Formats: sequence, structure tokens, C-alpha cells
Amino acid sequence: MNFEVTEEQKNFLDKVDRVCKLIRDYETKAYLEERINDRVIPEFGEIGMLGCPISKKYGGLGYDILTYVFALERIGREGNSLRTFFSAHISIGQMILQNWANEEQKRQYLPETTNGKSIMAFGLTEPDAGSDPSSIVTKFEEKGDNYVLNGKKHWVGNGTFAKVITTYAKGPDGKISAFIVDTNSKGYHAEEMKNKIGLLTVKNAEITFDNCIIPKKNLLGKKGNGLSVAYSALIDGRLSVAAGSIGVMKDCLEESIKHSQKREQHGSTLAKKQLIQEHLATMIVNIESSRWLVYRAAVARQKLHDYVESLKEKDENWLFLLNRENKEYSNLRNRADRLAAIAKLHATNAAFDSANRAVQVFGSFAYQKTSRIARHFLDSRAIIIYEGANEVLKLKIASLELGDKYQSY
Ligand SMILES: Cc1cc2nc3c(=O)[nH]c(=O)nc-3n(C[C@H](O)[C@H](O)[C@H](O)COP(=O)(O)OP(=O)(O)OC[C@H]3O[C@@H](n4cnc5c(N)ncnc54)[C@H](O)[C@@H]3O)c2cc1C
Repeated sequence: MNFEVTEEQKNFLDKVDRVCKLIRDYETKAYLEERINDRVIPEFGEIGMLGCPISKKYGGLGYDILTYVFALERIGREGNSLRTFFSAHISIGQMILQNWANEEQKRQYLPETTNGKSIMAFGLTEPDAGSDPSSIVTKFEEKGDNYVLNGKKHWVGNGTFAKVITTYAKGPDGKISAFIVDTNSKGYHAEEMKNKIGLLTVKNAEITFDNCIIPKKNLLGKKGNGLSVAYSALIDGRLSVAAGSIGVMKDCLEESIKHSQKREQHGSTLAKKQLIQEHLATMIVNIESSRWLVYRAAVARQKLHDYVESLKEKDENWLFLLNRENKEYSNLRNRADRLAAIAKLHATNAAFDSANRAVQVFGSFAYQKTSRIARHFLDSRAIIIYEGANEVLKLKIASLELGDKYQSY
């Protein structure tokens, strides 16, 4: 399997690296003040990162998923907080439109998001429906040319300032559909969720749909097929979290090496102590084992993407061909789903473990939020919960192997 990048992609990744270094101090300041880092959108917008894997036709850079994953890995070094902004805007934002929207919807929404004028978010989770999205209670009904939505979503990343979100609601027949929602729609309210224990430069919102009116043309994908849209978005979301986790681990390792080579206790540097070396060795194994899982999952996701794009070119009824009866699609989708779940499960556990070990290497020096390591530790707790809690991913991985009748979630 080839994980090489072209010279052009390398130049882009160098730009990502440069912007990451440029905004580093602002990110620290924003984190401590618990606010959005207002340099992120203009600086990353300037190099095209806000539309990295989105087709050039809609103002993106049109990069493949592996290049996008490499960019997220680099961004992850600056923290899960920063990386989460991109995951919400791109992986479970724009990519949903790129994959599922019709041409008119893509032309209407994507260009404004790739240039950063409009930020995206994903509203699936509800107070009574987290790991089990099929139990959502947000409802929609048809009224003339519109749909009317009622219900609540919570934890929506970027939700306080996103201009466009995708959301998911149940129709009178109990089937879930996906919708594109302009956040200035009548009956749409967003409120910041406060007192988080980490991810402090990301803003999460509770969203209320109070007879929220959405034009019928904003139905996303087939009516009643909303869970397929949401679940496919979660493949991209998991991949993005897993990619960012590698960056987190690299940063924890590098900082731990620097600190342990400098700090002396009991007559020699910490780096000479075998128990400290055990922490470093585990971090290295965590990085290397995660890396290949993530890159392999990215390649599998790209194959699925290429297949669906080829269907779109060949058949205007492509939406109706994305089902279990289509064996080629089904196989590619299951493989992408499985590998993204494995990568996310492994890399997020490894990132939290690495951050925890790095705190130990730093001792009290990592016990204040001014420390990068402290922030990695706090932020890496969330990644074990969101984009599919890790317990549920274990069940998914097992049941994909065992077969449908063993599905236990
Ligand atoms: C910081 C943050 C950002 C988020 N961003 C978004 C966002 O942008 N958009 C969005 O829609 N949602 C978002 N979420 C919500 C997130 O996806 C959910 O928190 C997640 O799906 C878990 O749901 P829950 O919190 O309701 O936990 P629950 O579903 O109540 O689960 C609680 C625990 O039970 C376990 N569990 C559940 N079912 C089973 C089972 N069958 N067997 C064994 N164990 C089980 C879970 O693994 C978990 O450990 C975010 C959450 C956080 C914390």
C-alpha cells in the first residue's frame, strides 16, 4: 500500500505546518480564555485547508482522503480542540454534502463553506439518543413546500456559529431523514453548552427546533434514508479523530523526550530512568501502531468514495444504487466502516494513554492548563466518547465479523 504524497501535496502539508506554528500561541491563549481562536478561519482559509478534500468545482483543493488525513495529523499536534473544529466543519460537515447532496444543493452550499464564509456543523445527538441514533425523537412533518422540525440536539460542535448544519429527524412513519438547515431559519435556536472539561476552543451548542421551517429542497439524500447519511458521515468523523490522535501522540512524545532529557532528579536526567523510558517506548508503539491503521482506513475510504463518484457519473439514479443489494458498494462500505472503527478505537485509546503517560513524565509541570500536555490530556478524554463511543465501536467491529444476526447494539 502506497502512503506517499506528491510534491504538490507535500507543499500543501508544509503550509499546514507553517500555519499550525503561526497560530500556536493564539490557540494557547484562546484555550485559557475558553474562546474560539479567531486566527484559525482566516489563516487556514488562506491556504485552502477549509476545503481540503472538497472538489475544486466547489472551491475546495480536491485532495484525496489520505492527504486530508495527513493534514489532520499535523493539526492534531496543536490539540484535539483545534482538530475538532476541522472535523465538524469538513469531515462531518462539508463531506456529507459532497457525498450525499444533489448538484443544486452542492452549488448552493459548498462554495461558501470552502472559502470560510459559512462554517458547518453536524446535529445528530439528542439528550435521549447518543450511542443509539435510531432512537432520536426530533420530528419532521410536511407542510406545503416545507418541512417543519421540532426537537432538540445537543453537543453540536461549531454549533454556536455554524451557518449551515445537517440534522436528522423522524417522519410520521418513524423513518429518519437527513436535512440541510440554514441556521437563520425561523424556529432555529442555538445555545452554547458551558463548563466543559476540555476542548475549550471548540464551541458546542444545544440546538432547539421550534417549528423550524425548512424548504423541501433541503432534504438530503433519499427520504427515510437519514441514518445511512449519518452513519456514513461517522466513518469520515472517526477517521478524522483517529488522524488527529496520531498528532496528539507525536506531540506528547516529542515534548516528553525534551523534558526528560533536561530534567534531572536523583543525580541524572529523567531520560536515563528505565521507568521513564517505558513511558516513551509505549508512546512510540502507540504512534506506530495507530499510524498504519489510520492510513489503511483512509485508503479504504478513498476507494469507497471513488466508487460512489463513478456511479454518480454513470447513473443519475445513483442514490438508489447505494444499498445492500449492490455487492460492490456494500463490500467497499463495510471495509471502510470496519477499518475506520478499528483505527478510531485504537488511536483514541492510544492517544489518551500517551497523554496520560506524558503527564506522568512531566509530573507537576503538566498539572496546569498552560501546559500543552495538560491540554492534550483533558482534550483526549472526549475522543473516547464522541464519533462513536469506544464500547460501541467494539460491538460494531465484532458484529461486522460475526454477521448481522449477532449485532448487539
Ligand atoms: C465534546 C463532544 C463533542 C461532540 N460533538 C458532537 C457533534 O458535533 N454532533 C453530534 O451530533 N454529537 C456530538 N457529540 C455527542 C457524541 O456523539 C455522544 O456523546 C456519543 O455518541 C455518546 O452518546 P452519549 O454521550 O449520549 O452516551 P451514551 O450513549 O449514554 O453512552 C454512555 C456509555 O454507555 C456506553 N454504551 C452505550 N451503548 C452501549 C452498548 N450497547 N453496550 C455497551 N456499552 C454501551 C457508551 O459506550 C458510553 O460509554 C459530542 C460529544 C462530546 C462529548
